[in-house]
Amino acid sequence: MTVRAPTVLVVEDEESFVEALTIGLGHEGFRVEVARDGAEALLRFADVGPDLILLDLMLPKVSGIDVCREIRTVSQVPIIMVTAKGDEIDTVVGLEVGADDYVVKPYRMRELVARMRAVLRRREEPRPGGGVARSGDGPDDEVYEVGDVRLDVTRHRVTVRGEPVDLPLKEFDLLAVLLERAGRVVSRDRLIERVWGYDYVGDTKTLDVHVKRLRAKLEEDPSTPTRVVTVRGVGYRFEEPPGREA
Ligand code: CA
Repeated sequence: MTVRAPTVLVVEDEESFVEALTIGLGHEGFRVEVARDGAEALLRFADVGPDLILLDLMLPKVSGIDVCREIRTVSQVPIIMVTAKGDEIDTVVGLEVGADDYVVKPYRMRELVARMRAVLRRREEPRPGGGVARSGDGPDDEVYEVGDVRLDVTRHRVTVRGEPVDLPLKEFDLLAVLLERAGRVVSRDRLIERVWGYDYVGDTKTLDVHVKRLRAKLEEDPSTPTRVVTVRGVGYRFEEPPGREA
C-alpha cells in the first residue's frame, strides 16, 4: 500500500527557516513547496494545491493575515500560522481570519510536525460531533439544539435566540463538543483532544481563551456565564435550560 506524501506549502521569507523546514519536513515525509512572500504564496497555492499551508505572519508584499483571508475565500485547506514571540494580538487575529492553529517561533520541529499531522487528521474527520451524529442517516442528525442555542454542523451555522452568531472554526468545534454532551461536564483534556487533536502540545490556556470568546458571544453576561459554565478542577459544561419538565 502506498500513501501519497502530503504536500505542504511553506510560506516563509527567512532563508534559514526555509532551509530547515525543507530538510526537516522532507525527512518527515512531506513534499515541501516554498513561497517567499505573500504574493508568491497566493500564486503557489493555486499552482500546487497543497494539503496544508504553513504561513508566516510577517511577510513581504502581502501579510500572512491577508494571505490567510484570501485563501479562505476559496478553500478550507488547513493553515497553520507561524508567529514571532510576543505577537499575542496577531495570534488572535490569525485564528479569527480562519487559521486552524498556530506555532510561535522559535518552535521545535517535533512540535510543528505534531501540529501538522493533527490538522491533517482533523481534516479527514472534519466534524467534532463525529461519533454520534455520523451514525445517523438524516440531515437533522447534524444539528444540536440546546435551549435557545442551535448549531448546524453541516451548514456551519450557529444561532442564539434565532440570531446568527459568527464563530471561527475552533470556537465552533468547541461549542459542538459541549453541545453534544450538554448537561454533562466535559474535561479539559477531552476538549483539547477533540478540538485541537490528541497530540496537541501547546499551551492549555488556549482552551480558556476560546471559552472566553465563546462566552462573549453566547452569554447575556459573560462575567457570570449561565450557558458555558466552569466545573472547577475538571472542565466545562453546557447547561441545559432550566424548567425542561415544566
Ligand atoms: Ca517573516
